[in-house]
Amino acid sequence: MIYSKGLYTMKNEIRNELNLQINREMQSAYNYLGIATWCSEKGYPGSAHWFSLQAKEEMEHALKIYKYLLDRGETPTLESVGKPKAAFEDLRSTFEAALEQEREVENFLNAISVKAAEAKDHVTLNFLAWFLEEQVEEVASVQTILDQLSLAKDSLFLVDQELGKRTETESAGN
Ligand code: MG
Repeated sequence: MIYSKGLYTMKNEIRNELNLQINREMQSAYNYLGIATWCSEKGYPGSAHWFSLQAKEEMEHALKIYKYLLDRGETPTLESVGKPKAAFEDLRSTFEAALEQEREVENFLNAISVKAAEAKDHVTLNFLAWFLEEQVEEVASVQTILDQLSLAKDSLFLVDQELGKRTETESAGN
């Protein structure tokens, strides 16, 4: 897109940060797909379903940033995605890994928001607000699952069955 440069020209630093975030979201998607594969193999189809939908959401997050860069007249740079972890100790450790990942993503999004504020890039700041809100939900939902797993102890089957009922959310896209 030919974009007339002016008030809304994006600073290089912000563009680079958003490029990195595209990569992090894709890496998250891949990591979740890796967990989903482990869950399928170990006989947790509900959790596999939950993690595969989570992977899809992360890809949608990546695409949302990708589209934002294009809309601002910038060219996204796509970096390589690393191999995801394939082995886990037990079901609980997969959700612990998810929680750690979401907290990490939250920290990065917050750091980019700080930089956008410093650069007086209010358009990007506004764009990132959706992601920060989304992170609050993501962290809370994984935490809730971990709580359920603690309560369920030997009834992992029931928790897994519940996770199998997850439906796609509309908010992930636009
Ligand atoms: Mg995400």
